[in-house]
Amino acid sequence: MPIVNRVAAMHEEITAWRRDIHEHPEIGFEVHRTAGLVAEKLSAFGCDKVVPGIGRTGVVGIIRGRETASGSVVGLRADMDALPILETTGVPYASKSPGKMHACGHDGHTAMLLGAAKYLCETRNFDGTVVVIFQPNEEGLTGGLAMVEDGLMERFGIQQVFGMHTSPNHELGKFALCAGPMLAACDKFTIEITGKGAHAARPHEGIDPVVIGAQTIMALQTIASRTIDPLDAVVVSTCMVRAGEAFNIIPQSVGLTGTIRTLSERVREKTHARVRTIAEGTAALFGGLAEASFEGDVPVTVNDAEKTEFAIGVASEIVGRDNVQHMRPIMGAEDFSHMLRKRPGAFIMIGNGVGPGLHNPGYNFNDAAIPLGVSYWVRLAETAMPA
Ligand SMILES: [Zn+2]
Ligand SMILES: [Zn+2]
Repeated sequence: MPIVNRVAAMHEEITAWRRDIHEHPEIGFEVHRTAGLVAEKLSAFGCDKVVPGIGRTGVVGIIRGRETASGSVVGLRADMDALPILETTGVPYASKSPGKMHACGHDGHTAMLLGAAKYLCETRNFDGTVVVIFQPNEEGLTGGLAMVEDGLMERFGIQQVFGMHTSPNHELGKFALCAGPMLAACDKFTIEITGKGAHAARPHEGIDPVVIGAQTIMALQTIASRTIDPLDAVVVSTCMVRAGEAFNIIPQSVGLTGTIRTLSERVREKTHARVRTIAEGTAALFGGLAEASFEGDVPVTVNDAEKTEFAIGVASEIVGRDNVQHMRPIMGAEDFSHMLRKRPGAFIMIGNGVGPGLHNPGYNFNDAAIPLGVSYWVRLAETAMPA
């Protein structure tokens, strides 16, 4: 039983929504037009309740089934925000806001969940309640938490929650996921190194924080190779270096900033401790001082084992069991993790066809995936809460 017929009939309409959203990308929490459009459509579909302003600019729609005696409540989540990228796709509906672009497929996620909401409002062929969740600022990795902190789960009585992301690493017609950790925890680290500024021609009178910084960057690479068990995943990437201003001045200080990605709390804590020790120890070795600090609260995206099996069953109904692939965890992060920390559920990747990667200026969501994604959403609701 592949694509739902009624969903196939909506393909063109949903594609038009997707392209409209693509043309008008918005960033972070400033997704006012998109959130407005979502709220307007949800009301027009006949949602029992539409609540804007959850997690600042998030929108929630409530759809009650033909019956609600089961008391079941399922949350389905999409993200609405774009990225600060100059689009190069050349499509006729390319971004009208230069420097902003839907390069992560959130235009497709929003359109597909809107399509599912329309179908579910029309058919109501389930016993329970569906909560459609449209979140802002996934890319900033704080929108999911903002909605959760606004009482998303408690206010709407959500018992289980599901998310979906497009994947340009998978063929069209495939779904992919895994039970347990699927995406990494993400932390930002900053190391502030203080030396002693001097004339570049008289280095013996200073303490060179650039040399300390260089040693530190290299030493941080030993965390993955020498500290953490090779069978555990960890990434430490130093991505920003702030150093001097002139070719002939040894600066007073150097700043290093980067990211740490891990798949377990144990490895995460160990990595933080090691970054601190390496920073302080390396600086001390050369007579300087260093201070490491950490920011960010994006936990590991952990799929519940039972809900993963359930999601595999639903996706198999749409594309066949052979096209639902087990994937290895990836070190990217997703702030849907905050919702999964509150309620059991599963995150699934939907094949976009192999092409330019996410966050690449040439990436474009594949509209051919729409009927598959929408069918997945509606069957998930109907299967979780059979009428
Ligand atoms: Zn992204
Ligand atoms: Zn994304």
